[in-house]
Amino acid sequence: MGDARDGFLTARRLIDLAEAVRATPEIPRAELAELLAGHGERPDDLTEETFTETSAAELRAAARRMAAVLGESDEGRAAEALNALFAEYGSRPRLTRHDGHPWHLQVDRGEEAGWGEWFLASGALALAHLLTEYGRIAWGACAATGCGRFFLTTGPGSTRRYCSGSCATRARVAAHRRRRREGEGVGRG
Ligand SMILES: [Zn+2]
Repeated sequence: MGDARDGFLTARRLIDLAEAVRATPEIPRAELAELLAGHGERPDDLTEETFTETSAAELRAAARRMAAVLGESDEGRAAEALNALFAEYGSRPRLTRHDGHPWHLQVDRGEEAGWGEWFLASGALALAHLLTEYGRIAWGACAATGCGRFFLTTGPGSTRRYCSGSCATRARVAAHRRRRREGEGVGRG
């Protein structure tokens, strides 16, 4: 369970940040800092001096890069995209348990890695955990028109295409209406 849980928590952080940037592309530094704090980053690492406007810009760019992976529905292409991130931002894996966190695996360049690199390396590792643990893509971007929200599909059951029950219902109703319209069109010749 250790690996899956670790992967899951980091994946949760990845989804929350990527979703925040998707919803608000120019999300302010302070809001990103708040999100990071909510995911266990230390307040000392999130001050205006340690998590700067430049850091925030790096993180936004990294979130946009991850958005492409989160929207990928083909397993082979997702794995390729993750390998590309490891090649570009990863380093030798190491185990750490800093700041009271449980033991976890890190593959970023440590102190040398900026916030963007850290986000890409840790996010790629989290998704790789999920892909290997579940044997399938366990995340997605909502397929409902006008939504696109990122989500994890780590619960039991089959792969989901929608972020929520309401989006699934909305999409089902829209598909039903479309079919009926098309049906009427055919009927009228
Ligand atoms: Zn949705």
